[in-house]
Amino acid sequence: MTLSTGRPYLAIPGPSVMPDAVLQAMHRAAPNIYEGELLELTQGLIPDLARVARTNGQVAIYICNGHGAWEASLSNVLKSGDKVLVPSTGWFGHGWATMARGLGIEVELMDFGKSSPVDAERVAATLKADKSHEIKAILTTHVDTSSSIRNDIPALRDALDTTGHPALLMVDCIASMGCDRFEMDNWGVDVAVAASQKGFMVPPGLGFVFFNGKAAAKRSKLERVSAYWDWNPRTNPERFVQYFGGTAPTHHLYGLRTALDMIHDEGVEVVWARHEQLASAIWAACEKWGQGGALRLNVDDPYYRSRAVTSLSLSSPDGTRLRSWLEQNTGVTLGIGLGMANRTDPEGDGFFRFGHMGHVNAHMVLGMLASVQAGLTALEIPHGTSALEVAAAVVAEG
Ligand SMILES: *Cc1c(COP(=O)(O)O)cnc(C)c1O
Repeated sequence: MTLSTGRPYLAIPGPSVMPDAVLQAMHRAAPNIYEGELLELTQGLIPDLARVARTNGQVAIYICNGHGAWEASLSNVLKSGDKVLVPSTGWFGHGWATMARGLGIEVELMDFGKSSPVDAERVAATLKADKSHEIKAILTTHVDTSSSIRNDIPALRDALDTTGHPALLMVDCIASMGCDRFEMDNWGVDVAVAASQKGFMVPPGLGFVFFNGKAAAKRSKLERVSAYWDWNPRTNPERFVQYFGGTAPTHHLYGLRTALDMIHDEGVEVVWARHEQLASAIWAACEKWGQGGALRLNVDDPYYRSRAVTSLSLSSPDGTRLRSWLEQNTGVTLGIGLGMANRTDPEGDGFFRFGHMGHVNAHMVLGMLASVQAGLTALEIPHGTSALEVAAAVVAEG
């Protein structure tokens, strides 16, 4: 017998759980794309997206996933031959660097490994040494979803300011926006990249690029920008079709409208606090399990942990065994370990992740943790006791 029959729960770091209200908003006949409701709806999305990013800047919406949003952001401020600095803390930092190289951009990669955050002092030293300002931008992840490291973005702003370096600060917020505190303008971020399927709770398919006046000025100086990625017509359209460089992503827009209403009804600050509290419950349980076995949180210092994804390990191959057992027996799907070991390395089967981003509440997190507890028990994977009690205690604190 399996106890997995019932509503499945995809507890991976994106795509995240879609609220019923978002799904219902999308379940409709195709709307008129030339006039009427959709046009107004789209205009209304812009300020509400900007409120989530905490910016008075602009936002371009693309029909793409996060990879597309990476390319969109690069295409508007950099050209072939320009140089960028990429402080990386996992798979996604390297991914954005690869995207840049493909556009002919020279990448100076600063690899901080898979368990430590970006060291802003080392970045400052590199900026200081760059006397002729060859580095045109810093590309970094706020949260690297593979390692679940959360980087200190204001510290990077300080590194730029104290060295008087003019490079743009470009931040991948795909896994953090709508989950972890992020304040684009207050933190001095010039370009922020996000996507629909994580904190925004909408299916994959929309990419967002937020940018300020300094980034807009870089765009104006470029001679050529790919017509599809160009953010100018998208943010200053003369005709509706220019918002999306073609047909609008009709149903995603309805879903996004509802998701933004949910976020702003709850309040962005409250959304962040909810993620924080639920993450604390998860960490507390993991620490208890780890006291009696091999289970480890990838990031030691809670300050540098994502509030929306938790990267973990067991002895190989117990991570993979646990994921399979949970899916087959409890209806919970956990995330795979990503980029933590080479694909051929058997150690890779030790790594796994919990996704806890977006439309997630206490009973989902506690249900996931209790399912993990059942899996550890069923598979006879050694683990410490009282994990569920401490997680429940964190929830009880409210
Ligand atoms: C998910 C994610 C991406 C990639 O997004 P896709 O939609 O899979 O292309 C990039 N960066 C981060 C930090 C992510 O979490």
